[in-house]
Amino acid sequence: VGAGYRGRFAPSPSGPLHFGSIVTAVASFLDARHHGGEWLVRMEDIDETRTVPGAADRILRQLEAHGLAWDGEVVGQSARKPLYSAALERLTGHTYRCACSRREAASCQCRAGLPPGKLARAVRVHGAPGMEDFTIRRADGLFAYQLAVVVDDFEQGISHVVRGADLLDSTPRQQWLQHLLGYQSPEYLHVPVVKDPEGRKLSKQNHASAAEEEHAAQTLREALQFLEQPVPEAGAPREILDQAVACWSRVRLL
Ligand code: GLU
Repeated sequence: VGAGYRGRFAPSPSGPLHFGSIVTAVASFLDARHHGGEWLVRMEDIDETRTVPGAADRILRQLEAHGLAWDGEVVGQSARKPLYSAALERLTGHTYRCACSRREAASCQCRAGLPPGKLARAVRVHGAPGMEDFTIRRADGLFAYQLAVVVDDFEQGISHVVRGADLLDSTPRQQWLQHLLGYQSPEYLHVPVVKDPEGRKLSKQNHASAAEEEHAAQTLREALQFLEQPVPEAGAPREILDQAVACWSRVRLL
């Protein structure tokens, strides 16, 4: 891990944080602080169709209650569309317009030209060799997560991304966009995903329960246990995190 570490936690405000999102937040926070780095919070509200009113505020209150103090201002993607637009522009030559709805995108043939009589709706980028093409501007006009996250990680000077292994298959696409845009790629570390007893990833979509502020200390201990880190006996959230920062080891995760 080199100098100038800057990490981030990037929740989508589609609901409050649940145990799985606390685990990811804790892992990225500890990795950053253990390496003397900064830790930023970014609200990934680019998919307006999934944004739940009040969720962003609740997420920040949950982070505070868990002692996860971030650096600088919290930025929101919805305010950064001109940046995504500029990146889209810079990708011209690697992209094509596509007439498919989101549902049709998997079998998209628009690379060879728009089917006659069809209107362009989305923008897709040619994948790296062996990689499927993918959407960077959606049929509904919104910028795709893949583009927004790459622009934001670059613009915010993120050097290390620690996030859930559910995003593992997004990483090559993001690295490809970084390559096309001439951005240096951050380092990636993916942490195991918390599953429910049926083996499904905990998610806001399947109504995982919110990590309650008043149980923050206990939740932190459980998160450390899940991440295979030493678990401090007791204490307030800040004390638990201070000890965990000192003891943090990525190796236990690998
Ligand atoms: N906003 C994404 C999510 O909540 C995380 C994106 C990332 O960490 O790159 O799943």
